Amino acid sequence: MKPLFLNPPTFEDFDGGAGARYQASREVTSFWYPTWLCFPAGMIEGSRVVDAPVQKFTLEDCLTIAKGFDMVVMYTSTPTLAIDIETARRIKEVKPDIVTVLTGPHVSILPEESLKAGNGIIDIVCRGEFDYSTKELCEGRDWSKVDGISFIKDGKTIHTPDRPLIEDLDALPFVAPIYKRDLPISEYVIPHFKNPYVSIYSSRGCPSKCIYCLWPQTFSGRQMRLRSPQNVYEEVKWIVDNIPEMRELSFDDDTFTASREHARNVANLLKPLGISWTINARANCDYETLKVMREAGLRHVVVGYETGNEPILKNIKKGVTKEQAIQFTKDCKKLGLSVHGAFIMGLPGETKETIQETINYAKQLDLNSIQASLASPYPGTEFYTLAKEQGWIASDDFIDSTGHQKCVINYPNLSNAEIFNSVEEFYDKFYFRPKYILRSIGKMIVDGEERRKLLKEGKQYLAYMQKRKQGQSCES
Ligand code: SF4
Repeated sequence: MKPLFLNPPTFEDFDGGAGARYQASREVTSFWYPTWLCFPAGMIEGSRVVDAPVQKFTLEDCLTIAKGFDMVVMYTSTPTLAIDIETARRIKEVKPDIVTVLTGPHVSILPEESLKAGNGIIDIVCRGEFDYSTKELCEGRDWSKVDGISFIKDGKTIHTPDRPLIEDLDALPFVAPIYKRDLPISEYVIPHFKNPYVSIYSSRGCPSKCIYCLWPQTFSGRQMRLRSPQNVYEEVKWIVDNIPEMRELSFDDDTFTASREHARNVANLLKPLGISWTINARANCDYETLKVMREAGLRHVVVGYETGNEPILKNIKKGVTKEQAIQFTKDCKKLGLSVHGAFIMGLPGETKETIQETINYAKQLDLNSIQASLASPYPGTEFYTLAKEQGWIASDDFIDSTGHQKCVINYPNLSNAEIFNSVEEFYDKFYFRPKYILRSIGKMIVDGEERRKLLKEGKQYLAYMQKRKQGQSCES
């Protein structure tokens, strides 16, 4: 069976592929690679990966492409499930015998409900990692003999035994050759990276216990599994030799620094390649490890600070204190590392005062860039269970009709509208302050590329905020 791994069209600039940790249109155009789809694609003869939002393919384009395949595999999410089922329905219309498969955190947690929502349109859902499940399905194995899948037979839902997490990550194929074969590398951008970038994983899973974090609780697991440093090096070397347009490599692991030894070993091997790279780090990584990575080409770190309020850090089981995060940030600056801080508005314990505390904290840290998201209690997370128990969930719609994130959390002392508005306030207060503006102007004066980038992003940001407000007001 020939499979099509499809990230279907959704909304303009919607970053919802099998590599985005939360699905929404972003303030500035931002696309992650559909990495999870590329692993099985690399193991199955005749496969193809289509990333419609990035390739600017319409639904009609995708239907035409799908006619040439026997199976379509989509990575779905809580916000996009209905859209993905509708895409599958349209595909079945033009190719009735195609096998439709959904994967990803949502269907892993709610397989039966997802099949029911599919109403006969979805043939199979894969629970958990789907690399080998989809491979075995394409090899023609009887569905009942494929672990980790659910399907409906004679009106009954069949769940085959769970599939254990993959231990030998080195046995998986490199994803980069699939990127090069199927995807337009130059269209993948993350604003705070040097673009075009390429991202890979050097591990799967994260041992931390953050209650809101989706992948480790539903999909990638809380046990960190590592590729060998040599295997990682070989893929990076392949990229350097075969994707010369790459300007920066991203290790988009759940947390690259969760194993310091792994981080240092990978860094030491990468050093002779002389490339610029980025990581996702926890704000408790020690100075020495940062230094080893910096000396090996690390330029930029993406860090989940989440909040500036210590009790909220405890509520969400972040496992990092403010004091540690402040020290980490100082260490990064001392080493000349650029820092992108991720914050979440509306986590348990949030009040009007803690919102201001977080905004002031980010300003004091004086990070290079920030991202403010809305707390989203996705099914399968401890946050979801807590929010359900406490009656905090005001709506099941995680995105509005234009793909922008909606605030579904409503606290007795803080409304979803107040949390929603805090995101814009955060961006305004962080980016439109004299120190940041002066620094940006300085960069624009000396660097033409930076000037074009900042002006383009500024325009995108203003348009985004306008659409975001319109989306919210249309729905309220
Ligand atoms: S450290 Fe990061 S990846 Fe790990 S559970 Fe927390 S938020 Fe998720």
